[in-house]
Amino acid sequence: MTEQRGDGRRHAAEEETRAWAELVETARRSVADGLVVGTSGNVSVRVGETVLVTPSGVPYDRLTPDDVTGVDLAGRQVLGSLVPTSELPMHLAVYRTTAARAVVHTHAVHATAVSTLVDDLPLIHYMAAALGGPVRVAGYATYGTDRLAESMLRALDGRTGCLLQNHGTITHGATLAQAYDRTAQLEWMCRVWLTASSVPGLTPHLLTHEQLAEATERLSGYGQQTSSPSGGPPSGRV
Ligand code: 13P
Ligand code: ZN
Repeated sequence: MTEQRGDGRRHAAEEETRAWAELVETARRSVADGLVVGTSGNVSVRVGETVLVTPSGVPYDRLTPDDVTGVDLAGRQVLGSLVPTSELPMHLAVYRTTAARAVVHTHAVHATAVSTLVDDLPLIHYMAAALGGPVRVAGYATYGTDRLAESMLRALDGRTGCLLQNHGTITHGATLAQAYDRTAQLEWMCRVWLTASSVPGLTPHLLTHEQLAEATERLSGYGQQTSSPSGGPPSGRV
């Protein structure tokens, strides 16, 4: 019995080590891909009842396997000694209300610009379907606050991503790869809309809700149905 418990703990520790390595890689990728500057943004992944998170204000290239930082779903620190991300309220709100296993928050430039202009990202491209529908902008609240988390939850209803007014993006998914891919698609769509809508004298055509519904249906059969390279179903919601 005790041995079994020991095995269980060892297995959990191995899983945390693997998940931490993937989390650090994802955080570094967000900088390399230009979605994040400096220590803005944060990443988390859920392993059982523990949520591994990037520590606050630490450049991602300095993170080592010893820096693993984890909290429980109530936000109590259970792993490491570095201060967890200041955006814990947003990350935990997602885990408490959805089946998500990973969350990515960035200050991607085009997405942040769009968040200052509109209340919803206009339906410029069918990839909105991969985020559950037209992407909303969560009303502004100070970073790191419960109010921001509440505003985010309202904007996320039925979606796997949203914009945060005058702040950035947040997406979630079944895996880090899926949450990251959704952020990259969201930033790309914002860039397309800004590009198209900045041509003087012309206004972009937008998709109808019906056209988006058709794309949603079709996306459920997109790609390789056995296992997707991004680690989750391409449009699958969690
Ligand atoms: P942290 O460094 O605390 O994760 O904060 C970055 C951020 O994006 C706050 O909104
Ligand atoms: Zn932020």
